[in-house]
Amino acid sequence: MKLSFWGAARQVTGSMFLLTLDGDYKILIDCGLDFDKERTEYENPDFKKENGFVFPFEVTELNLVLLTHAHVDHSGNIPNLIKEGYEGQILATQPTVELAELLMQDSARINKIKLNSIHGKGKKINPKTMNKLTADLYLDSHVRESMERFVPIGFERRFKVHENLYVTFYTTGHLLGAASILIEGRENGKWTKVGFSGDLGRFNYPLLKDPQPFPQVDYLVCESTYGNRTHETTDSPEDVLANIVKSTLIDIPGRLIIPSFSVGRTQSLLYILNKLEFSRKFPGIRVFTDSPMALRSSKIYEKYRSHLNKEAQEFCKENDGLFNFENLTYVPDLEGSRAISNYYEPCVIISSSGMIHGGRIENHVLKNLENPYCTIFMVGFSAEGTVGNKLMTGADKVVLKGKQVEVNARIERTDIFSGHADLKGLMRFVDQQQNGPMKNLFLVHGEEEVMEDFKKTLTWSGYQNVTIPSWGQEFELE
Ligand SMILES: [Zn+2]
Repeated sequence: MKLSFWGAARQVTGSMFLLTLDGDYKILIDCGLDFDKERTEYENPDFKKENGFVFPFEVTELNLVLLTHAHVDHSGNIPNLIKEGYEGQILATQPTVELAELLMQDSARINKIKLNSIHGKGKKINPKTMNKLTADLYLDSHVRESMERFVPIGFERRFKVHENLYVTFYTTGHLLGAASILIEGRENGKWTKVGFSGDLGRFNYPLLKDPQPFPQVDYLVCESTYGNRTHETTDSPEDVLANIVKSTLIDIPGRLIIPSFSVGRTQSLLYILNKLEFSRKFPGIRVFTDSPMALRSSKIYEKYRSHLNKEAQEFCKENDGLFNFENLTYVPDLEGSRAISNYYEPCVIISSSGMIHGGRIENHVLKNLENPYCTIFMVGFSAEGTVGNKLMTGADKVVLKGKQVEVNARIERTDIFSGHADLKGLMRFVDQQQNGPMKNLFLVHGEEEVMEDFKKTLTWSGYQNVTIPSWGQEFELE
């Protein structure tokens, strides 16, 4: 068996790993969008993009694709596989199939805008540059075709691909449908087990089940997002939201703006707000969810309620839904989005993107950043260079939509809604493995410094063979 790392290698995004069995059976694990693309291209001068190809390997030779979960840094490049001629199946859990469709459609919508802008410039662009600019811009038709390739499979069920290959998906609690994947492959009569953590979630996270036990493997590929830190707060998500609502909307009547990803994070927030309203902790305060995808995503969460934790299932049964509280309004269109600006009562506005980098949130932040009665509540990770990151690091001015604005609003943050396991959670996952039988532990999906720290912790804990693979590096698995 051979394992190559074609993404999330010494960086966070672009998860994509290639496992080759018996010399020619090729399995791709995840196919995510790479937001560190510039670096990847720089590191690999032979990158085929200028010839109109996105992938650094021959896509038509792939036999199978496995998808851990729907987030775009794991799924968002799937339609480009179809574009480059992939004809096989894609295995994922049923909720992942539906959430991935939602996210890929949104990427296709953004691609269409980018394409129109490239073609609309009226300038003559040479074919090489044009290929480079448009290679990865798939359209809705590619998403539709991708959807025909998905084969939904259940959690914790050993799925036989063929007599020398089995795959099993295990719940990770990171997002509805999210899984770690076990691949069992037989070569020359010998079975080898390879585990892919996918993104690991947290215990006691709103709505989601806890990560489930993962079996012993020979090789493990483990994410490292929070490989050097522990989530700070010990309060419950209910306490955190109740406190911020009280201090920003009840004690002083203001506005609470929460930049949040529409798929997953927004549902956790809405569920907790629903519970707070249910317990009458903030009666009468309007909540606007201003994101076209949030409503569809919420419906998928309700449809697959059997995949949620017990508490959420019971709440859903008792209240006939998870997110259906009286004061919640899903804003359907841009007109509605603009109208929120004229709503002068205390309210909560939840909108995407979570990093304040594109999306309707930009307008809300732009209109309210100078208002000292407004609070921007950051509930997730913001990459460097985004407005979200600048606010979180204490900037007193930011540029939004070409305008420079002063930051008079209060900026608050929490990591209670982060969907990733912290160092303790990662160690808990890895510690399920016996050190001897596990021959190598590969760290992926993390910033380089964080991975180095995580590796040190693992080494101190007795794990001898810990590897931080580079982009394109290939390993022979015995
Ligand atoms: Zn994820």
